[in-house]
Amino acid sequence: MSVREKYEVVIGLEVHAQLLTKTKAYSSEENIYGATPNTKTSVISLGHPGTLPRSNEKVIEYAVKLGLAVGSNIRERNEYARKNYFYADLPKGYQITQDTTPICNGGTIQIKDNKGKAKQIAITRIHMEEDAGKSIHDLDPFNTLIDLNRAGVPLVEVVSEPDIRSSDEAYQYINEVRKLVRYLDICDGNMEEGSLRCDANVSVMLKGTTEFGTKVEVKNMNSSRNVKRAIEFETERQIEVLEKGGIVNHETRSFNAANNTTISMRHKEEANDYRYFSEPDLQPVIVTKNYINEVRKTLPPLPNELFERFTTEFGLSEYDTNILIDEKGIALYFNELCEYTKNYKSAANFINGSVKSYLNENAVTIADFSISPEQLASLITIVDNGKVSNTIAGSKVFPAMLNSNDTADKIATENNWIQESDSDSLSDYIKQAIAKYPEKVAEYKLGKKGLIGLFMGEVMKLSKGKADPKLANQLLRTELEK
Ligand code: ADP
Ligand code: MG
Repeated sequence: MSVREKYEVVIGLEVHAQLLTKTKAYSSEENIYGATPNTKTSVISLGHPGTLPRSNEKVIEYAVKLGLAVGSNIRERNEYARKNYFYADLPKGYQITQDTTPICNGGTIQIKDNKGKAKQIAITRIHMEEDAGKSIHDLDPFNTLIDLNRAGVPLVEVVSEPDIRSSDEAYQYINEVRKLVRYLDICDGNMEEGSLRCDANVSVMLKGTTEFGTKVEVKNMNSSRNVKRAIEFETERQIEVLEKGGIVNHETRSFNAANNTTISMRHKEEANDYRYFSEPDLQPVIVTKNYINEVRKTLPPLPNELFERFTTEFGLSEYDTNILIDEKGIALYFNELCEYTKNYKSAANFINGSVKSYLNENAVTIADFSISPEQLASLITIVDNGKVSNTIAGSKVFPAMLNSNDTADKIATENNWIQESDSDSLSDYIKQAIAKYPEKVAEYKLGKKGLIGLFMGEVMKLSKGKADPKLANQLLRTELEK
């Protein structure tokens, strides 16, 4: 047994998601990424004396949405708390957050364990808070720059139980959270821009023991891939410390993507004491059962529901399904497409093939895609009934449909793209193809059966791609074997 195999890693994740509200959490300035630094601030987010915060109702709605989507209990009486600390990007000297009364408790996120079995990661809590400003260390060689546009931007923090047992599970968990907030339209999930951030709590213990080791909190990963890498490094590091007879320090470490390591930021003894106390400037918010039910009605179909439907009802593979449900827009488009065709596999292939390539190449989303599900279904139909080949469908009819509202059938007929499957015209092409390469015919007859490809190519060329490949192949063989 290797040293690594003696240990088990235990991980709990804290994910911060910036909410896509129009305005900030407790003030009315615009919540927008990428504006000129320090232009989206106000006396409230700057903490001027005498100013008062107000809670943004959208923040509550979005937190409730997320809570309902993961199956949390939603708290009725929500109090706000002050988390006090000094930092240059926090002009108020405190963040408004929730301490003992998070808006959501409990719930789960589903991932797969290493055997591919469904595994539930329990959610401890989800609470609402505000972001701090942003300190920029890498723009000016001598100074740290501060952008306060981010101060007061609403966040939800999702805290998991220490149920995660590998870097891969952590990776999946983040991607699931990311998918979910994007489905709910409450966060854009962009980890590079910091709209979704993750702190990883990592500890190791000997397999077979039950007491968790001392945890280390790792920060500053700007992609789910980096969370995975940081956990892998941190696991190895802690095991090495223990194997050398040392103890793991309870500390916060920072991930350095450039060399794939973590470095110590602060020890627990130096850790902040936030002196939480109840926020005196905000009334508690009462979330009624009625309100929760109203929000529940606005929930879109969720990725897990669609997964279930696509794999069982439509009989698609998990692989195809995962690609389809990765993005809500695509998943819902596919779902609608399946109201017009029963060839689900072919529908999935069209979406994951031609449609996605088109969207990627043109850098547009499915919202800007001009072919309606009903119209696309007409293309699947004419492939199914042999009127056009898959190749013609993808290379000719599909592009033409982008600029037309006609059915695929009409477009293919008008453009004379309907596959030739009457054997008379096919026979003509076949005779021509054979006449062109008499020596190859001889070779074929001597056993070089691979040459069929050459003749097929010729037939396709002569028919301008319209020959029904199956039939042509069959007729060609018969002719060559004569
Ligand atoms: P703290 O008080 O240090 O913030 P919490 O108990 O609030 O610690 O937990 C914070 C996060 O750390 C949670 O996601 C939790 O699941 C995780 N966690 C707690 N104990 C451990 C441990 N021993 N190893 C790994 N993760 C842990
Ligand atoms: Mg914590």
